[in-house]
Amino acid sequence: MANLKTLRFPDLKKYTGRNPNSRGSFQRGRPVGILLHYTAGGTAWQRLAGQNSNVSAHFTVDRNGDAYQCGDLDQRLWHAGVSHIAGMTGLNDWYIGIEQANYGFWAKDERELPPLEEVKKIGWLPAVHKYDAVHNPSRVQYWQPYPEALLAKTEAICRWLVQEIPSIKNIHGHDDVSPGRKSDPGPAFPINRYRNILMPDDAKAPPKYRVEVSDFLNVRAGPSASAEKRDWGPLKDGDVVEYLREEGTWFMVRNKDKKEGWVSSLYLRRV
Ligand SMILES: [Zn+2]
Repeated sequence: MANLKTLRFPDLKKYTGRNPNSRGSFQRGRPVGILLHYTAGGTAWQRLAGQNSNVSAHFTVDRNGDAYQCGDLDQRLWHAGVSHIAGMTGLNDWYIGIEQANYGFWAKDERELPPLEEVKKIGWLPAVHKYDAVHNPSRVQYWQPYPEALLAKTEAICRWLVQEIPSIKNIHGHDDVSPGRKSDPGPAFPINRYRNILMPDDAKAPPKYRVEVSDFLNVRAGPSASAEKRDWGPLKDGDVVEYLREEGTWFMVRNKDKKEGWVSSLYLRRV
């Protein structure tokens, strides 16, 4: 196994040094997983790398795809808080943390976000958080989309971590390990794209669909005709995509370059 203390992701904007806000080193055989977060704001590398902060994480990715490594991979950092999964508690002791620049859901608070009507217009996605889907299914909130540049960089970091650190066997969202207390990375984040990294290629054979349209089919960031367009679309008649999941009449699909987006299922036929 690589030396965790000196391991650096090769495509960084900046390595900010050993994190001063750490709880010592992981025990032998750890880390065992990657925990994905949003910052609930914009870029946060200075806060995550700094001394006078109550949070720290191994990586943070900005909306333009710039990645910062804010500590060393042997360090136990402060990103998970009260958390548990699969018999483990206090996941700071077990998991690498990746923060992502995203405001999460719209709320009237000290962040002083634009009015709700404005964020709806710029494509924030109406969705019920998976925790609420069980406990409070009518609670629709508006979530900031994640740009593909950010999603691709987070994916590259996860793939690299899984390859370099064989003890890593899990990828979770913070909302999977602190259910009800944390909402990140939330429903605008395609968590399955990351969980699939861990699966052997022959274990994932999603159904395929062919596009049937007279002109073109837009690919969107969420399951709605008002969600922002993905730059890998539009799809043309005859294009084939893989099905990942659905919401209403919308399918989340993936192209051959593993890029994901939402399309109206009315123009798709099972291959
Ligand atoms: Zn978090």
